[in-house]
Formats: sequence, structure tokens, C-alpha cells
Amino acid sequence: MAEAAAKLKGGRLCSICNDRRPALKRPKTLEQICRECFYTVFEDEIHNVIVENQLFKPGERIAIGASGGKDSTVLAYVLSELNRRHNYGLDLFLLSVDEGITGYRDDSLETVKRNEIQYGLPLKVVSYKELYGWTMDEIVKLIGLKNNCTFCGVFRRQALDRGAALLKVDKLVTGHNADDIAETVLLNILRGDIARLSRCTSIITGEDGPIPRCKPFKYTYEKEIVIYPFCWLDYFSTECIYSPNAYRGFAREFIKDLERMRPRAILDIIKSGEDFRISASTKMPEQGNCERCGYISSQKWCKACVLLEGLNRGLPKLGIGRSRGLNNEQNKDMKLTDGTKSMQSKQCGTLDF
Ligand code: SF4
Ligand code: ZN
Repeated sequence: MAEAAAKLKGGRLCSICNDRRPALKRPKTLEQICRECFYTVFEDEIHNVIVENQLFKPGERIAIGASGGKDSTVLAYVLSELNRRHNYGLDLFLLSVDEGITGYRDDSLETVKRNEIQYGLPLKVVSYKELYGWTMDEIVKLIGLKNNCTFCGVFRRQALDRGAALLKVDKLVTGHNADDIAETVLLNILRGDIARLSRCTSIITGEDGPIPRCKPFKYTYEKEIVIYPFCWLDYFSTECIYSPNAYRGFAREFIKDLERMRPRAILDIIKSGEDFRISASTKMPEQGNCERCGYISSQKWCKACVLLEGLNRGLPKLGIGRSRGLNNEQNKDMKLTDGTKSMQSKQCGTLDF
């Protein structure tokens, strides 16, 4: 009725179907579109990204890094829908990391447990306490609120790989969206980290490592992920109580400002990151395995083992920044080792995985 009246009155119509009244201005393109068309383009774009980049093969087992936050919750929902609708033939699982942050992660894990039932996807939770013998609460008690995210980011990366290995999955998908990737491109430029700059825009990473990771939301705008569920998806939206990360926050705000002026800015920053090429003369770290735990590392010990050794010996600064630590003889710069910093705060539940 409303649509017919709009047509008769010559009111504005959805610029995609040209039939229904627009319900929103699409953040990515600023088109006025109806709700139905928004769902369709949102899901179709993700499907096209999956198909064009050949993210999955039929029969694969896929773990979805699930924090209970909006990105991973929408990812779990959309991926299970697309899997069914387009017969991807995937076995999907939810994989969560319990960092041991009281009042934050325990609550968001409750959300993931509800998602397990709502979407019918089996859930595996791995915890820092089980894997490393420490919770983030205990670590923060020891080291304070400086560098806590370094520990957390390094530990989470390995925890996800270990959880994925326990689930025997072929790939791990994460909810990193276009805004996160643009932000990481910018941060890597600001840090002068060209090695990571080219890697952070890849839609699939770690193909030479234990479990490849992919980002089906690489071109999906955060604002669209926020409006996609309207009110029917169940997710958790509180910041981690230990979240500082002022530098990343600044890059995030900067990107939001650019987006306000020109929505395409996000895609253009990603494109700039993609187009960076590392010259053949740039020395890249060689990958080997940690002598202690076997995890991939370009050093004698992986970063998690160095940090853990520091914690266990009561020397928590060991392995932080450029200080000389256990791997000192081999390579003085611990920062360029495990690829853990590039997505550090995105790996947390504040910003989702
Ligand atoms: Fe961990 Fe994220 Fe909290 Fe930092 S902000 S302590 S990385 S969960
Ligand atoms: Zn190790």
C-alpha cells in the first residue's frame, strides 16, 4: 500500500528495485534503498567475494572465530545462510577464545553459547588459562595496564590456531571488516612496517602456516554490519575493560572522518595497501618453528613462549618491544616476528576478532 501510494505521489523509491520506499541510505554508496534490497546486496556482495576469491572448497571444515561481538556474530549468521543457500558444502564451527577477563569475556562467551544453539553450529572454547596457565586478569595484575594487549594479541593468535587444530578444520575465518583493514593499512604505514602492509590486505593469509585464515568481510563496511541485524541478532557490545590502544583509536577516528566526507575512502585505502609491492631487496623474516612449542616462528622461540617465560620468571618485560630478550642472539628485533601486531586490537572482543 505504502509503496503504491509512494509511486502514485511520485515519492522517492528504492534506487535498486525502484519499487519499494527507501528505508535507509546505504553507508557504502549513499544510495537510498529499501530494507529488502539492503539485505540482498549485503549478502550478495559477501557471496561474490567468497566466490571470486575462491575462499572455500566443498567439503571443507571451517572455524568461525567467534567473540560474541557484532562482526563475528553477523559473520556466523551470514556464512551459515550462504552455505545453505548456495550449497557451499561447508562444515561450520564456532571457535572462541576465553582470555580470562572477568566481567567482559565471560559475558560475551554467554552470547556465543546462545549463538551455538541459535545457528546450530558446534562451539569450541579454548582458554588462556588452559593453554598458558595464566588468565588476562592475572597478567594485568602482574604487569598493569601497559602492554597487556601485546600479551593478549600474541596469545590469542596462537590460541585460535590451537583451537582450529583441535577442531581439525581446514580454515579459520575472522570478522575483520573493511574499516579494520583500512585502519591496519594506515597503522602499518605510520609504523613503517612495510612487510605487514602488503600482508594485511590479503583476503587469505597463512597459507604456508598451520591453518589459513580468511576474511570474507574484507570489503564489508562496519556501518553496514551494524545495521544489518537491526534487532534480531543476539550479540554483545561492551568494550574490554583493559582496552587502551590510543594509537589505533586515533587511526580509527581518522578513517571515520574520511568516510564521512567520502565513503569510498575506506575501499581506496585498502586498494593502496594492496598495490604496495615489496622490493626484492627487502629482507623478509624466514619462517621456522619455535624450539619450545613448535609453533611457526622466525625466531628460536615464538613470541608467546618468550612472553610466557617472562611471566613465569617474574620478568614480564622480557620480549616486549625492542628490549633484548631470549632471542637476542638471533635477532634483536622481536617486533618483526610473528605477525601478531598487525591485527592486534581487532583480535580482541572490543573490536571483535
Ligand atoms: Fe585483550 Fe583486546 Fe582486551 Fe587488549 S583490549 S586485553 S587485546 S581483549
Ligand atoms: Zn613457542
